[in-house]
Amino acid sequence: MIDLEDFAQTLLSRVGVPQGATSSGGLVAHSPIDGKSIGKVATHTRHDIDAAVERGQEDFLAWRAVPAPRRGELIRLLAEQLRAEKEALGALVTIETGKILSEGTGEVQEMIDICDFAVGLSRQLYGLTIASERPGHRMMETWHPLGVVGVISAFNFPVAVWSWNFALAIVCGNSVVWKPSERTPLTALACQALFERAAKLFADAPPFLSQVIRGGVAVGEALVDNPKVALVSATGSTRMGREVGQRVARRLGRSLLELGGNNAVIVTPSADLELAIRGILFAAVGTAGQRCTSTRRLIVHASVRDTLVERLKTAYSGLSIGNPLEPKTLLGPLINAQAFDAMQAALRDARAEGGVVFGGDRVLQSEFPAAYYVKPAIVEMPSQTAVVQRETFAPILYVVTYQGFDDALEIQNAVAHGLSSSIFTNDVREAEMFMSAVGSDCGIANVNVGTSGAEIGGAFGGNKDTGGGRES
Ligand code: NAD
Repeated sequence: MIDLEDFAQTLLSRVGVPQGATSSGGLVAHSPIDGKSIGKVATHTRHDIDAAVERGQEDFLAWRAVPAPRRGELIRLLAEQLRAEKEALGALVTIETGKILSEGTGEVQEMIDICDFAVGLSRQLYGLTIASERPGHRMMETWHPLGVVGVISAFNFPVAVWSWNFALAIVCGNSVVWKPSERTPLTALACQALFERAAKLFADAPPFLSQVIRGGVAVGEALVDNPKVALVSATGSTRMGREVGQRVARRLGRSLLELGGNNAVIVTPSADLELAIRGILFAAVGTAGQRCTSTRRLIVHASVRDTLVERLKTAYSGLSIGNPLEPKTLLGPLINAQAFDAMQAALRDARAEGGVVFGGDRVLQSEFPAAYYVKPAIVEMPSQTAVVQRETFAPILYVVTYQGFDDALEIQNAVAHGLSSSIFTNDVREAEMFMSAVGSDCGIANVNVGTSGAEIGGAFGGNKDTGGGRES
C-alpha cells in the first residue's frame, strides 16, 4: 500500500499548504485507513484565539463596506480553486476521514455548489418594503452583516460544513474564524490555502477574512466565549451543542446548532422494495454510518418485514469493505478505536435488550492492525428500546415492526433527535401525511429516497436535540 503520509503531504503542497505547516506541533493527524500519523500541526492558545478574533473584527469593519456583488466575486474565485483541485482535496478528505473517494470528491462538489449559490445570492440580498401607517412614509428592512462568525465543525464533513457557513458569511459581509475538528486539521489547512489563492487573485481582500484555529475542546470554548464572535455556528454532537448553546446564551450571543441525528426510514406495505433496499443500504452503510443523516432505524410494516430484512442481509453480505482510496470499495473504516468501542458497546446493549444481531464484527485486522474496519450491522429489535433511541455513530441499523400507520409515525417521532426521515410508500395519502404537520417531526422529510445527504438551496438542519439550526 502507498505511504499515506507521503500522499497526504503531496496533496497538501499541491493545494498550496506551505511545507513545514504540517511537520511539527502538538496535534497529530491520523488516517483512519491505516491508523498511522499523516502530519502534525501546531495548536493555538486562548490568547491566540482572542488575537485572531480581533484581527477578524478589524477586517470585518473593512469588508462590510465592500458592495455585496464584489464580495460575491471573491467566492466565485474560491469556487474556481475548488473546481481545479476537486480531486486533490477530495483525496485528502478520504485520507483524513476514511470516507470513500466518491464521497470525498462529492463533499468538495457540495463546496462548489454552495459557492455558486452564494455568488448568486450576492446580487439578491433583498429586504422587504412595508406599507407604513404614517402618511408620506415608507418602511423598509435592510440586512446588515453580523461581524465575526465562529465556525466549529465535526470530523465527518471536514470541509463542506465550513464552506456552507463560509461562502454565505463572506458574501453577507462577515469575517470567519474556523475551528475544525481536532481529528481533521489537514483538510482545514488545505481549504485555507485554496482560499488564500483566491484572495490573491481578488487583489484587495483584507488579509484576515478567513482564519483557522487549531486544537480541541479548549480552543472551541475560547472561540465560543469571545464576546466579539457575533454568531457561533457549531456542528457536532448534541453533547457539544448543549455546552456551546448554553455558553453563547450566557453572553447573549447567537448560535446556530447542527447536532446529532437518529434518522428513521418507514417502509409501508405498498413500498417498492427494490427502491427501498437501495435507499436504505446507501443511507445506513454509506460513510460507514458516520453521517449525521445516516439511517439508524428501520420501521417496517409486519407484512413486508421478513422479505425486506432478508434481502437487506443479502445486500449487506455483498458489500466490499476496505481501503477507501480503492475505487471498488463501498465501505471504509470507522474514524478511530473509540468509534469501534462505541459500536461494540451499542451491540452489547442491543443484545441485552432482546436484539438479534447480524454482522458488526471487525474485519481486515491483520492487514490494518491499527485501523477499525467493520461489517455493518442489522439488529432486529423487539421494540424501540433505549439503545435504539440513542445515536451511535457507526453502521448499525435497528429494525422494529409496526402494524398501523399511526404507530409508525409515533415510533418515528419518539426519539430525542429530529434531523432526517424517510418514507417508502406508493400510497399518496401516507406520503402526504408523513410530510404534513402531523407527520415526521424532523427538519428533513423524504419520500421514496433515503435519509442521508443534503442539497444546496433547501434549508438543512433538524429539530429537537438536533439543535434547530438551518444551513445552506
Ligand atoms: P463532536 O461533538 O465530538 O465535535 C465537534 C466539534 O465540536 C469539534 O470541532 C470539537 O472540537 C468541538 N467541541 C466539542 N466540545 C466542545 C465544546 N464544549 N466547546 C466548543 N467546541 C467543542 O462531534 P464529532 O464526533 O466530530 O462529529 C460527530 C457528531 O456530529 C455526530 O453526533 C453527528 O450527528 C454530528 N454532525 C451533525 C451534523 C449536522 O449538520 N446536523 C453534521 C455532521 C455531524
